[in-house]
Amino acid sequence: MSDCLFCKIVKGEIPAEIVAENDHALAFRDINPQASTHVLVIPKVHIASTQDLNNENVDALSHMALLANEISDAEKIKDSGYRWVINTGDDGGQTVFHIHLHLLGGRQLNWPPG
Ligand code: AMP
Ligand code: ZN
Repeated sequence: MSDCLFCKIVKGEIPAEIVAENDHALAFRDINPQASTHVLVIPKVHIASTQDLNNENVDALSHMALLANEISDAEKIKDSGYRWVINTGDDGGQTVFHIHLHLLGGRQLNWPPG
């Protein structure tokens, strides 16, 4: 999608602090971090939200998960713990409509979320 912010990051048209990638997923630091580790993991193809996952593209989620695990290892938060968050739609707090997994860690995270 040409007007999608995260597609532009995938294409290198907008700068981002990329921390890792594989053939199908890209990870970069959130511009407004909510924890000492706050990385966004996205599919390289445009999928707007969890509602747009289907039989053809659902593998993207597995590639995102494996990349997130590489990062939690590299960031040394795999033993202390962390949280994966995917926001969907207005009530979910989604602001960028290219599906992304927030990897948050490095501090005690509260529950329930706000
Ligand atoms: P969400 O509210 O779940 O859609 O999350 C969108 C996230 O994208 C927010 O945490 C923003 O801080 C982050 N964000 C927005 N623009 C950028 C950008 N150019 N580079 C990195 N992160 C961004
Ligand atoms: Zn996109």
